[in-house]
Amino acid sequence: GTTMEALKGAAVSAAIKEQVQNRLAELDGYIPTLAIIRVGEKPDDISYEKGAMKKMASFGLNVQSYTFPEDISDALFKEEFAKINADKAIDGILMLRPLPKHICEKDIEKMIDPAKDLDGISPENIAKVFAGDSTGFAPCTAEAVIEVLKAYNIPMQGKRVTVVGRSMVVGKPLSMLFVKENATVTICHTRTADLKAECSRAEILVAAAGRARMLDSAYAGKDAVVIDVGINVDENGRLCGDVDYESLEGIASMATPVPGGVGAVTTAVLAKHLVQAAARARG
Ligand code: NDP
Repeated sequence: GTTMEALKGAAVSAAIKEQVQNRLAELDGYIPTLAIIRVGEKPDDISYEKGAMKKMASFGLNVQSYTFPEDISDALFKEEFAKINADKAIDGILMLRPLPKHICEKDIEKMIDPAKDLDGISPENIAKVFAGDSTGFAPCTAEAVIEVLKAYNIPMQGKRVTVVGRSMVVGKPLSMLFVKENATVTICHTRTADLKAECSRAEILVAAAGRARMLDSAYAGKDAVVIDVGINVDENGRLCGDVDYESLEGIASMATPVPGGVGAVTTAVLAKHLVQAAARARG
């Protein structure tokens, strides 16, 4: 059969970098600053933070890290968050989540200035995503999936899309972004009756379940485009996606590898959002 094409995140990120640099040039030398807020020392958070910092540096953007101890009180964290949120020198905020259980994340979602909410956690930005209004910020990972498809000129209009996962970070907002692109969307979750059937009839299949290699060739339709959002650690301690990439060879037409796929695009979208936020704030 034909060989499956790898959809490479680096290529998509490079295309986004070009857009970002064009917009940066319109800011008359102003360099936007991202605030990354982390509570505690979770390895996942630290590695995401490192990746984001590297990406901002490579795009020529500033980053300011704010790290708080795991046991910071709810009240004190909110006080510190409010300062960062109001700081005129900060153009955008990325807060690593989930926060420790004793801090009320819902309150922070309501506090964050929607204009600085680069990862679309505020009710205002979420509402805009669901309304198909692109003046807000969608969650970066959800938007990254759309960016991959656009960068590779993969049409979405009229296509059968299946999204596995219904979280507010990925599955649900991504489904709404697909609807905006005029796709016909099926959203799957743990109570879906026949996951194989729902997945294998998709022309574009997106895995965002957080289960190592759960989707293999039995879930992929002939010539499907498969996008793997999952970031998992397998039984050997290696990074892997929700899709068994090798098994798709000869079945899917294109697929994103993990690592090297959507992850690299997520931080590029974050950079794009940062420059947008700065441009809007400066009129
Ligand atoms: P959540 O755990 O919040 O949500 C997982 C979703 O998948 C739920 O809706 C769940 O269904 C569904 N699901 C889980 N197992 C199955 C199954 N066996 N069959 C069908 N549906 C299932 O995860 P997130 O949305 O936060 O993240 C998803 C994945 O994406 C993770 O691997 C995460 O690490 C990765 N991720 C990657 C990012 C990137 O930059 N590339 C950024 C953010 C996340 P139900 O609702 O019924 O429980």
